[in-house]
Amino acid sequence: MAIRIDQIKNMKSNVTIVMYHYVRDLANSRYPEIKGLDLPCFVNQIEYLNKHYNVITTEELIHSIDTGESLPPKSALLTFDDGYIDHYTNVFPILSNYGIQGSFYIPVKAIKEHVVLDVNKIHFILASTPDKLMIVKDLEHLLEKYRTTYQLYPFDHYYDMLAKASRYDSKEVIFIKRLLQVELIEELRLKIVEELFVKYVGMEEHVFAKELYMTEDQLIHMQNSGMHIGSHGFNHYWWNHLNEKDLASELDLSMSFLHDIGVDMKNWTACYPYGSFDEQAVRMLSSRGCKMAVTTQVDVAEPIEKMRFLLPRLDTNDLPKEKNSTINDWYKKAI
Ligand SMILES: [Zn+2]
Repeated sequence: MAIRIDQIKNMKSNVTIVMYHYVRDLANSRYPEIKGLDLPCFVNQIEYLNKHYNVITTEELIHSIDTGESLPPKSALLTFDDGYIDHYTNVFPILSNYGIQGSFYIPVKAIKEHVVLDVNKIHFILASTPDKLMIVKDLEHLLEKYRTTYQLYPFDHYYDMLAKASRYDSKEVIFIKRLLQVELIEELRLKIVEELFVKYVGMEEHVFAKELYMTEDQLIHMQNSGMHIGSHGFNHYWWNHLNEKDLASELDLSMSFLHDIGVDMKNWTACYPYGSFDEQAVRMLSSRGCKMAVTTQVDVAEPIEKMRFLLPRLDTNDLPKEKNSTINDWYKKAI
């Protein structure tokens, strides 16, 4: 959906919520192919936002939704998903420098148990080789190997159904992601991801997890320095795929973690893993006193009651990263 420039004038009290994942010096990292934001581009975006926007805090957004009070014109809020070490070593010092708050959404299991989320394993499998067809071929063999045990369809059934290129990814990459993130049952997905992780990444999972995610102490440091830390579940499951009991467990475990690291639980917030919200998830967040939740819907957010648990965001990759970009560039690219 394109946002028309003439609509911007009527968006004075709206807030541009920006979503970030990996933020790192890609060229000098071990996985330059990882889909992330290059650190110099992040610095440019922050400089730009600081100059042209009012960067607000999550608490200010909650206050605006609670009271109906207007936000400052051209408000922006910065959110960072998945608890990556990038956020502590790269993002946090820059935000601190500018006196800007970031909101960080943490998948607890990765931090507490030093396991690598399967979604992250898939990212690093993909970043480990330029030859995505080789991974597709491996998947063909693996599906064949498990075909009888898991009563699978022939490989072509999955390939024809899932291999469709997107705005960001080739059809091979989309096939690999969809097959391993959603299509197969969890037990088999985990098995296959594990086999590919060993083959392509080849690092001890514990060691890799410690390199990839923040520690509890680092989170406490950020929390004490005025950053906002919020819930991203425990296992990073799709919340709209869970029954009530399993979602309750996801939320309760992540709330207890937030409590333990000193988060003000009167103002706790959430971010749906994969943007996976549904009516049940909204109801259960609300009944637990959650104050707001962000999605991966692409839009500028209205700080109003009915959007409290459905706040859309713009991905950083949809926004200009060059120096001297104009405000109109931001909205033109936000589709
Ligand atoms: Zn996530």
